[in-house]
Amino acid sequence: MYENFKICPNLRPKEKCFRVQQYSGGKVVELFHEHVPSHRISQDAEIDALRCLVGQFACWNSLYVLHSRLNERRGGPAHYPKLLSQVTYPEPGVIRRYFSSGDTTAWLDQVINLGTFRLGSENPAPNNSSKRAREKPRAA
Ligand SMILES: [Zn+2]
Repeated sequence: MYENFKICPNLRPKEKCFRVQQYSGGKVVELFHEHVPSHRISQDAEIDALRCLVGQFACWNSLYVLHSRLNERRGGPAHYPKLLSQVTYPEPGVIRRYFSSGDTTAWLDQVINLGTFRLGSENPAPNNSSKRAREKPRAA
């Protein structure tokens, strides 16, 4: 159902959260974590950004950069390195797109359903209860 893996506590509606992690020496190391306004990046551009982030943090050489863009048709050089992609739902109301190659994984999280995103939390969604209603009652 929901992946519940590396939920970003700072994710807000109308933002996209980009992250990169890498397995190194038996440990997972987070290398990048950045938010951008959703209206500033298209789906094509976000996929391109994820591919570039994987390549950069995996230290791809020029040949890897070029060959990772080849299609699967026969003939000529092999499509290498392979970029694996996957779509998951890390928590209610959020979609995640992964791109990975070897030990390096990049992903982005985006709120797609305000109605189910972090219900009962400090959800900054405009439909949530007012700030006053969330305040603790004062002692008399
Ligand atoms: Zn984040």
